[in-house]
Amino acid sequence: MKIDLHIHTANSLDSWIVPDKLPAIAKRKGLDGIAVTDHDTASAWPAVEKAARKLGIAVIRGEEVGVRPAGRRVGEIIGLFMNEPVDGKGKTSVEVIDALKAQGAIVVLPHPFDKYRKIFPEDELRELAVKVDAVEVFNPRVALPELNRKAKAFAEEFGLPETAGSDAHVSWEVGKAYTEANANSPEQFRKALISGKTKAHGTYHPFFTRIFPSIAKLKSKLLGKKHR
Ligand SMILES: [Zn+2]
Repeated sequence: MKIDLHIHTANSLDSWIVPDKLPAIAKRKGLDGIAVTDHDTASAWPAVEKAARKLGIAVIRGEEVGVRPAGRRVGEIIGLFMNEPVDGKGKTSVEVIDALKAQGAIVVLPHPFDKYRKIFPEDELRELAVKVDAVEVFNPRVALPELNRKAKAFAEEFGLPETAGSDAHVSWEVGKAYTEANANSPEQFRKALISGKTKAHGTYHPFFTRIFPSIAKLKSKLLGKKHR
């Protein structure tokens, strides 16, 4: 199965992808499944799942949790195979990981070395490496390819399974990166992932596309939209 493990819908406020359109986009791109990993919300899960059922696209419930121990975001952690959203407000990285694990979710470190985004300091990352399940070793939105190579080396150093996801915020980015595993169901895919049998694939987004999350954020702000 080929599953894009990092996608934002419009419920993320910085994305243009309408939740119930996402499964059809994924199908067109030749994906078998998608993980919905909106920023700090799970509100798109039902709409995506409903649309996906008719198309035979697997949906993994996920979230990109902003770790905000003192209000400000200090880093991000992705949960996959979740049952309910996790609020990163007032929580440290370890507390977010524990909250995800408590519901049996798989914990992934997204774009861990992309210093142009909010990431954890390297000493903290090394501590977290013993708690997380996998590392996102390819993210097409990283500022420099070098930063993905560093993530891959980090995963290898700690013997952690690898994932890839497009981090899509517009439809044409979906499927630009995906995780492949020998599986016939989301459950088999989950097992392959935790046992390190996944392969990360991806190509980079054209540079111009990076501006779209900022425009979407501005649009949400102008429309007075808030996280649901
Ligand atoms: Zn993201």
